[in-house]
Order: sequence, then structure tokens, then C-alpha cells
Amino acid sequence: MKDKYGRTIEYLRVSVTDRCDLRCRHCMPPEGVPLMAHEDILSYEEIAAVVTEAAKLGVRKIRLTGGEPLVRPQLAVLVKMLKSIPGIEQVVLTTNGVRLAQQLPDLLTAGLSGVNFSLNAMDREAYEAFAGRDRFEAAMAGLHAALDAPGLSVKINCVPTKGREEQVLKIASLARDTRASVRFIELMPIGMGAVLKGIPKIELIDLLQKKYGPFSHDEAGPEGVAPGEYRRPERQRGDAGGCPGDRTPKGPAEYYRFPGFASDIGFISAVSHRFCGDCNRIRLTADGMLKSCLAFPAGEDVKAILRGGAGEEALRESIVRCVQNKPKQHAFGFQKTEEQRSMSQIGG
Ligand code: SAM
Ligand code: SF4
Repeated sequence: MKDKYGRTIEYLRVSVTDRCDLRCRHCMPPEGVPLMAHEDILSYEEIAAVVTEAAKLGVRKIRLTGGEPLVRPQLAVLVKMLKSIPGIEQVVLTTNGVRLAQQLPDLLTAGLSGVNFSLNAMDREAYEAFAGRDRFEAAMAGLHAALDAPGLSVKINCVPTKGREEQVLKIASLARDTRASVRFIELMPIGMGAVLKGIPKIELIDLLQKKYGPFSHDEAGPEGVAPGEYRRPERQRGDAGGCPGDRTPKGPAEYYRFPGFASDIGFISAVSHRFCGDCNRIRLTADGMLKSCLAFPAGEDVKAILRGGAGEEALRESIVRCVQNKPKQHAFGFQKTEEQRSMSQIGG
């Protein structure tokens, strides 16, 4: 499915809930945000109906997100349903990992192929201060369970914010010590992100080099990419990770390898380096709005179509309309078009 700017849309991010068991400072205020009514949230059958029509139109990859997707009961049931839809090649998950250790066996059996693990602190106290909940051990158990799962793609996503440099550097060390790449994702002016300050990439690279030594193409593996050059290793091609922080096959992430590191460190600067020209995705909110861009509130009300009994063709038409209305680019920092809701409500 192509949009009017010629972009191929093959990736659908599905928010399964707006609920979350954490209160990360860059996402939600400590008191939480107004919640959607339970009856407004799409059932698994309704989500599968949307995905079925999207797959007929060319969607191949589904990412489940939220809120925290693992707070929704029996997520593995949904994974299995989606995995069995003709055309759907991959079902992956973005999670804070707090409930992952327990649910991973069922998710793997259901066909989950990848996890993007959101992590913003590596010490218990710092974790609690940032995430608003004392769930550090549970998150670490989730991370290790994912890393130990053969064949499961695992990436660690961190949004670096000022004053938290020490934790950010510790998170970087996971790319040295584990098979997971670590991606630093630029803070977006969404939700609480509008009131925090991110660490600029240039500053972060400086800190990383001071701590871990100069990155070098000698360490970059067989592809031999010059320092700082855009790098797209084969094993990551086609991956679009957490969002913000997604990459398309021709995406904008810059990857670096530090001396002695087992995995890459990536930088994804969606705000300062717009990569909208490569955007391949649309998103479905938990309450059934199909959105063509994270930064714009408008969308197609597919829940009304589903519940009004309008049928599969109307659903497909709505998906096509959404894709056709996909804006050329986001306008963060340029005009006041951004969403006023938090990432947990939109489905980050
Ligand atoms: N709860 C899950 C998690 O944390 O991975 C999935 C939903 S969460 C909204 C998805 C991603 O959005 C997380 O990696 C989170 O760090 C990121 N995020 C939330 N608010 C953000 C902001 N203002 N700027 C950049 N990323 C943000
Ligand atoms: Fe943190 Fe994700 Fe929950 Fe937002 S939705 S508070 S990023 S765990």
C-alpha cells in the first residue's frame, strides 16, 4: 500500500491498552492520565479484524504496544491470532519488561519474534525515581528472560534525559555485555516529554567516548563502516524498533560500535533529523482510532466502523483513507500540530 508521497506502508503499530504499571517521567505524570473507558477499548477480535484488512492491503509487520501491553490479560492469545492472519510475517512487542519473564514462554509459543525493551535506569533507586514504581528486579528479570530466549530479537530503547547521564552510560554498557543493541531515542515533545530536557546526541557521544573509548570502524565488524557513518547491519535490516526510535529499511538510525562491545549503539533522532520520508507505518490506538502519524491527532474511527456493522470493505476503505491522508512529515518544533496526549495514550 503506497501513500500519496510514494511511501510503502507495511507496518502497523497496535496499542492494546492505555493502562500502564509504571509512571516514567518522560511519558506520564505521577498521578497518571485520564483513562479510556473499558468498553471503548478494542477487543482482540476487533483488533484482528482491522489487522486482517490491513494485511490484505500490504501490512506485514505488527508491533504491539500501549500503555504497557503486558498489563492486558492474555496478550499471547492476541499474538497467536495476529500471527495466523495471512500476510502477517512478524508480530513484535514494545514493553517495559516488568511482566515479561512470566509471560515470555506463552508469547514465544504464540509466535512473538522480537522485543523492544524500554529501559531508562540500571540501578534500583534510579529506576524507581524515574519509573515511579519499585519494579527494578522485575524489569531485570524480564530483560534476562528475553536475552536468554533463542531466536528472539531483543533491542534496548532508552530516552536520555538531562541529569540522568550516569544511568544512560550504564545502559550503554548493555551493548558491551549482551547481544542486544542499545538505541538512544531523542525525547519528543509529547506528554511529559514536553517538560523534560533531552541529552543532545553530540553530548551523549562525547560522554560515551570518554567512558568507553573512541568508536572505531575496526570494531564495526565485517562491513567496515567509518566512524559515525550511517550503518545498517544485515541482521537489523527491515527492523523498525520502538517508536519513536523506529527504523525503516532505509531508516535514519546511526549505529556505532565501541571498542570491545558485542553490539551496536544506535541514535535515533526523530525530532531533530526528521526521517518522515522513509516512514512505513500507521498506528491503531487502543480505542480504535487509526492514525497515520504520531504527531497529529487526526485519525479514522475504525471502532465506529467495526461496531456499526459496516463490513470489511468499509474497513479497508477507512485504512486506505488513513494512508492517503498521511502527512508528509511531522511538525515537532515547527508548528503546533503535535498531539497533546501522552505516548501511553497514543500508543508509543
Ligand atoms: N510501555 C511500553 C514501553 O515503555 O516500552 C510501551 C509503550 S511506551 C509509550 C513506548 C515507548 O515510548 C517507550 O520506549 C517510551 O520510552 C517512549 N516514550 C514515551 N514518551 C516519550 C517521549 N516523550 N519521547 C520519546 N519517547 C517516549
Ligand atoms: Fe513508561 Fe511505557 Fe508506561 Fe509510558 S507507557 S509510563 S514509557 S512504561
